[in-house]
Amino acid sequence: MRNIAKQWLQQLGVYEPGRPVEELARELGLPDASPIVKLASNENPLGPSPKAMAAVRAAADRMHYYPDGSAFYLRRALALKLGVSPEQLIVANGSNEILEFIGHVFLSPGDEVVVADRAFAIYRLIAAMFQARVIAVPMVNYTHDLDAMLRAVTPRTKVIFISNPNNPTGTMVANPDLDRFMERLPPHVAVCLDEAYIDLLPPDRRPDSLRYIREGRRVILLRTFAKSHGLAGLRIGYGVASEQGIRLMHQIRQPFNVNVLALEAALAALDDDEHVRRFQELVRTELPFMMAGLDRLGLSYVPSEVNFIMVDVGDGRAVFQAMQREHVIVRPLNGYQLPRHVRISLGTRPENEKCLQALEKAIRQRGA
Ligand SMILES: *Cc1c(COP(=O)(O)O)cnc(C)c1O
Repeated sequence: MRNIAKQWLQQLGVYEPGRPVEELARELGLPDASPIVKLASNENPLGPSPKAMAAVRAAADRMHYYPDGSAFYLRRALALKLGVSPEQLIVANGSNEILEFIGHVFLSPGDEVVVADRAFAIYRLIAAMFQARVIAVPMVNYTHDLDAMLRAVTPRTKVIFISNPNNPTGTMVANPDLDRFMERLPPHVAVCLDEAYIDLLPPDRRPDSLRYIREGRRVILLRTFAKSHGLAGLRIGYGVASEQGIRLMHQIRQPFNVNVLALEAALAALDDDEHVRRFQELVRTELPFMMAGLDRLGLSYVPSEVNFIMVDVGDGRAVFQAMQREHVIVRPLNGYQLPRHVRISLGTRPENEKCLQALEKAIRQRGA
């Protein structure tokens, strides 16, 4: 089949996600996955929104029906909450699916996309899928360099991707810098502003990015229920853009891209501010706890604003492997050309303590 497949596919790798707990349990010969702590995919350590769980149970007897592909009720609720119109919203099978929509709508072979060199890896993958050229602009202090990204724009540039806060670095661009960037954006370029972690920021740190939509700028905001609402496994996120932009994306999406259970869960989770507040609270207490622990181990890290932290451990893959033997899964970052680092998601306090112990042991082994 390789011979008849598209030629450019031959060069493409396969994305390496955070390792599932069941896979490690099988490898270590454990009867089940319960002793394993996964801090590798920035998931919500408090579990799913309880309101969402109840909604999924209630919806289970309707899963023989196709879902409402237009996500009418969820869009209506989101529109009310965000102060936009339902026509400015699209719901997707995870916000990652919207990245693919962006490829379908904007990218042809030979077009260019501008990304930061250590930004979320999926942007490059999408560009590759549509045979667009990736212009990777070096970060400064592990942070998007918006001026340099603007300078990288050429007449062939179609989309600039910005992850804010960024995964895996945990850094943010300052709000005035983002405003200035939007002012200077050339008219032939769209911006994808990926805000997967925005709900976890303290209110005074949150960019007022919905303003860019109201101002009619060429922006697609991405948000997700995966992290703040604990629905990563259900796959549901959404995009906010101009009516025109949203209509283009509806044209290329699958008719039933989001499933019945995910739609009901998201609708209920949207009403569960308490669950999000508890996760915000966890970030406020556990981020300093982890940073203090890393200081104690003499490890340097990139100061983070959200629920994960990137740590320089010398040899990321070796430490990832050693920590797995202690039943803790973190994320090596070789794919990001950061072979010295691992990314650690925040867990509950007992999980974070176990993680620091495993990390200490892994580092000692390497030092010995
Ligand atoms: C986790 C994450 C997402 C979320 O993707 P979903 O498809 O909604 O699960 C998107 N962007 C970034 C930068 C992320 O870290």
